Amino acid sequence: MRLYEKTASELSEMLKNKECSALELCDDVLARINETEDKVGAYVTVAAETARENANKVDAAIAAGEKLHPLAGIPIGIKDNISTKGIRTTCSSKMLENYVPPFDATVMNKVNAAQMTVMGKMNMDEFAMGSSTETSYMHLTRNPHNTECVPGGSSGGSAASIAAGEAIVSLGSDTGGSIRQPAALCGVVGLKPTYGSVSRYGLVAFASSLDQIGPLGKSVKDVAMLQSVICGHDRYDATSKNIEYPDYAAGLKENAKGLKIGIPKEYFGEGIDDQVKESVMKAVKELEAQGAAVCEISLPSTEYAINTYYIIASAEASSNLARFDGVKYGFRAKDYDGLTDMYEKTRSEGFGDEVKRRIMLGTFVLSSGYFDAYYKKAKKIQKKISQEFSSAFEKCDVIATPTVPASAFKIGENIGDPIKMYYNDVCTVTVNIAGLPAISLPCGKDSSGMPMGLQLIGNKFSEQTLLNTAYTYEKLCGGFDVLAKSL
Ligand code: GLN
Repeated sequence: MRLYEKTASELSEMLKNKECSALELCDDVLARINETEDKVGAYVTVAAETARENANKVDAAIAAGEKLHPLAGIPIGIKDNISTKGIRTTCSSKMLENYVPPFDATVMNKVNAAQMTVMGKMNMDEFAMGSSTETSYMHLTRNPHNTECVPGGSSGGSAASIAAGEAIVSLGSDTGGSIRQPAALCGVVGLKPTYGSVSRYGLVAFASSLDQIGPLGKSVKDVAMLQSVICGHDRYDATSKNIEYPDYAAGLKENAKGLKIGIPKEYFGEGIDDQVKESVMKAVKELEAQGAAVCEISLPSTEYAINTYYIIASAEASSNLARFDGVKYGFRAKDYDGLTDMYEKTRSEGFGDEVKRRIMLGTFVLSSGYFDAYYKKAKKIQKKISQEFSSAFEKCDVIATPTVPASAFKIGENIGDPIKMYYNDVCTVTVNIAGLPAISLPCGKDSSGMPMGLQLIGNKFSEQTLLNTAYTYEKLCGGFDVLAKSL
């Protein structure tokens, strides 16, 4: 068995027991990248040199008998919208194609303090707008389970790299499903943390009130370990919450007995593939057999979620992306006539179609004549969706739903139909609208052999309950088999 096939928690033990070195591990993952990257395309930038330097440092520290963080020397992939000092951070956009940040995001300070081995930057939909990684300016990322299919998005590279063995764990960002949806389509584990639990300082903003960085990995424990690295209060992010965060991995325990699972009927309606519904309900039944109580709940405003999300997210994006104007950093058009022309040409040439669509939609819903009819109404529905979740959590501890309506679609199938693409987020956007945590877990394969995802949604800051439930389910499955066989 090669090292890249193992989980972070297994590798952590092996490093501690000197069964392998951090450099051997780093080199095995680099070799795997070499073997599979032309088929998968998960990376925008492979940082082989700095990765090997870190691995050497970790090995020296182990040899010197220093006590290291459990994730020291574990190879990690970083979504390319997270600022990495000295490593290009492109957001998979022409606008930032050559941008090398002078600073690290807070999560990177934490990852570096833990001495994890950063393998490079992962491909994504441009500025995290999309559900298939097809809007990347860089190149396509393919689903390792079937390279004709999309890996999901926007954190497509982060998820595909795990399923391909090209990274052991990774970081993604989730504004409306971008960690959970690709995790589901690539058959890996992905956690979207509670809004405010992970610092957004150094995350290139898409929709600031919804964005959250989170971990992806092969197992619940890996994700729990990485979440403990990145969470915590940060004075550089005014929305970061100053509370005690538990050691999630240490706190992992099976919790089916006495657990109340809510099933919202609105997430099992029309448009959700029958095989997905069946596999999610099968998972719920298995937890029930272990002592969990299952009850039906209702989240009636779910039908407005997609509209609400795309209004709020686009409104914020139109404001956040105003900074890319050719003046401060990033791309600037070559030929222009005066300042206004420079702005126009830079933004026309620097942004792709989907980003432009969002900026136009966002500007429209914020404009004086339409503000009340669209943005204000969306904010009202946002409140309603949050209240419905609060009432639901009076009846249950976790809510189980599909992560995505169906398994991965073919490359090119939806890219010409934005509305169809947006519908892929129908089960995930409500979680961001309400600021909740949610995790996606593999729950079997469909008839075409493609992974399907179970989503567990928790109340604010209930990550431990969520992870425990996920861990219980993982044990019932005898572990998740995440690596793609066909590569
Ligand atoms: N697919 C959604 C969108 O395109 C979600 C993106 C995200 O979570 N970053 O907006």
